[in-house]
Amino acid sequence: MSDHRYYFRTDEAGAQRGLDLLDAAFEDEGLPLTTMEIDEDAGIWEVSVYAPGEPDETLRNRIAACIADEFPDATIDLEAFGETDWIAKSLEGLKPVRAGRFLVHGSHDRDAVRPNDLAIELEAGQAFGTGHHGTTAGCLEMIEMVMRARPEGPRGTGAVLDLGTGSGVLALAAAQLGPVRVLATDIDPVATRVARENVRHNHRTAQIRCVTATGFHSTAFSDAGPFGLIIANILARPLMRMAPDIKRNLAPGGSVILSGILASQRWQVLAAFRGQGIRHVKTLWRNGWVTIHLN
Ligand code: SAH
Repeated sequence: MSDHRYYFRTDEAGAQRGLDLLDAAFEDEGLPLTTMEIDEDAGIWEVSVYAPGEPDETLRNRIAACIADEFPDATIDLEAFGETDWIAKSLEGLKPVRAGRFLVHGSHDRDAVRPNDLAIELEAGQAFGTGHHGTTAGCLEMIEMVMRARPEGPRGTGAVLDLGTGSGVLALAAAQLGPVRVLATDIDPVATRVARENVRHNHRTAQIRCVTATGFHSTAFSDAGPFGLIIANILARPLMRMAPDIKRNLAPGGSVILSGILASQRWQVLAAFRGQGIRHVKTLWRNGWVTIHLN
């Protein structure tokens, strides 16, 4: 899957105004919008609209029309993330990351593991999910909270699903917290391969199965489910679209952990899941992203 963003540069006040304008125009589509500071000294900010698939001039033109009155001189640029580059992350040189009791680290940082840590050792790989991103860290913390809040674990209510597993980090986290079976899936075969390598590396092959699947299009889900816990760190729009499938594969009383959602999209996502009878329990906020627990 390739992804891209259209963006323009402005100052801090302009970024806020630009975000408001775009939010009003694109709120029904669930396209992620962000602002970020590019140069603190010069006060330069970027306002971006992220979109899946191949770049589309229609989207650029719509953004241009939306901001034309207030930003007549703005240039709208395109950044394409390519086939898998947007998730490409190497662990080499990355520092270990703590989230709750989890420590995610590369083999070169094995010494950083303390006695009570739940350690996850990842090989340098091409899949997203090293713990450095706020959404991964948020999910790690939430998985710990949810699985510990039920001392019997989700065992009684079925297995765990990690949808969009990337490096496999969240599946490995769940497997560390209880003797649960985990299905880890990804749309990207490269990610599935990396996840499988990491599962082997962490000696969890008996617990975690890695499968390539788009959304819920595989018999692996009915074979392994229904699930007592479904974790999905993807993006708001696909998550909203998959709400009915998530409901269908969730065991009665099961929990859902969602991330990859910008704070501004939280209500839309909650509404989509409320429509399926799945209700908000708790939200964690990190760097503009939210991780949500529902059941
Ligand atoms: N779970 C990891 C990775 C999150 S990145 C973490 O929390 O760090 C999101 C992953 O979801 C990517 O690997 C991407 O390939 C995958 N993905 C995106 N859309 C998907 C879909 N419709 N079905 C399954 N996987 C998807």
